[in-house]
Amino acid sequence: MNTFRTFQLRNLEDTPGFETMSEHQRMVTRVVGSVLPFKTNNYVCEQLIDWNNVPEDPMFQLTFPQEEMLDPAHFARIADLLNAGASREQVKAAAREIQLSLNPHPAGQVEMNAGYLEEEVVAGVQHKYRETVLFFPTQGQTCHAYCTYCFRWPQFVQLDDLKFASKEIDRLVSYLRLHPTVSDVLFTGGDPMIMRTELIRSYVEPLLDDALEINTIRFGTKAPAYWPYKFTDGEEADDLLRLFEQIVASGRHLAIMAHYSHPVELSTDVAQQALRRIIETGAVVRCQAPLIRHVNDSATAWAEMITTEVKLGAVPYYMFVERDTGAKRYFEVPLVEAYQIYTDAYKQVSGLARTWRGPSMSATPGKVLVDGIVEVAGEKVMALKFVQARNPDWVNKLFFAAYDEQASWLDELRPAFGEEKFFYIDELNNMKVDTAERVQLITTRAA
Ligand SMILES: *Cc1c(COP(=O)(O)O)cnc(C)c1O
Ligand code: SF4
Repeated sequence: MNTFRTFQLRNLEDTPGFETMSEHQRMVTRVVGSVLPFKTNNYVCEQLIDWNNVPEDPMFQLTFPQEEMLDPAHFARIADLLNAGASREQVKAAAREIQLSLNPHPAGQVEMNAGYLEEEVVAGVQHKYRETVLFFPTQGQTCHAYCTYCFRWPQFVQLDDLKFASKEIDRLVSYLRLHPTVSDVLFTGGDPMIMRTELIRSYVEPLLDDALEINTIRFGTKAPAYWPYKFTDGEEADDLLRLFEQIVASGRHLAIMAHYSHPVELSTDVAQQALRRIIETGAVVRCQAPLIRHVNDSATAWAEMITTEVKLGAVPYYMFVERDTGAKRYFEVPLVEAYQIYTDAYKQVSGLARTWRGPSMSATPGKVLVDGIVEVAGEKVMALKFVQARNPDWVNKLFFAAYDEQASWLDELRPAFGEEKFFYIDELNNMKVDTAERVQLITTRAA
């Protein structure tokens, strides 16, 4: 049995590889790790990070805080406090102020995506696209290690008002009864695969009631990359695989939405064994990850990764664009470059790996692909396309933005051909007004 051990600031000295970190890197870890959540584990440190290649090593970049993640003034403030031997409370208070200045949830998204039941918000439910409900089980709000760029950090540092969570599977079931268009339930987090099998089972079994007409159960998880022993080690793992088999035997599609960021995560024996065991249950493993500067901003890395996924029986799914997070500047890749990386990788792989879509932005109106960069009537433009949308009528519709090498998100793009606004803007604004009215109504009732 492999014992899961985590390393955070309080036991930083015990981290495998700590000895090879420079004084400066240790200091950076302590400073940035005081503001943004830091957690890694023994598997990541012993089998994925190449300590001879630190700090450039992609897995080190993915799990260890880096200096440029904070703005210099914020960095200096925390560094000064630590150097002056400030108390934990003082450091915490300063860190909290900095955290609050980094807004991880774009305005309106929380309210607009919420699930509503009898005009009440259903805790832990997000329902943005007609067919698919996201569910955030309370006990799944953490991960086997933390990705440095991750926008879910408010949940990990327990800013409770930003936290979507729920123990209430009953409420989810009531919600699904009232929304028969929903065919997919996607468990997400954090990482739902941090939960014990028994707990996962207690969340899943109520969804296998035929009256609900759920066709697909999905789990968004990074466990196959950060802790593959979850699927290989001991009785817990065997039970989990039995649960997977049970879902498949119920006649449903089980999709493990595996988050792989770099080909090294697929290279270890245990990672390959984990994938094999999951696939043997009849589950389909679909792979997705954001494009992250310093981690996987290379067509070669992506081509190798999606080729390996196909070789191991998994299905490449999405390449996401990194969205606005506290440390976006350090990790962002402009859309034009993202399109180039995607295209260069896509060209190199077998047709079977071209189930892979991207670069895709999960933006307020929907998932928007940068689908091409072309010249139309003498103007260089970026062709965009919804692959998911708040209004299903927008899906698969092409629209055009003026070419912009700097833009790294949808809201930085301007319409092409001198148009004033994108076609969906008025409708989206109406939806925002509707949401505001609904929230107002709920607030008034509660008062
Ligand atoms: C990505 C996403 C989904 C799932 O979309 P698919 O294209 O079906 O994978 C569902 N809800 C939200 C809010 C999402 O961002
Ligand atoms: S595994 Fe997912 S939720 Fe967890 S830190 Fe990484 S990106 Fe965030």
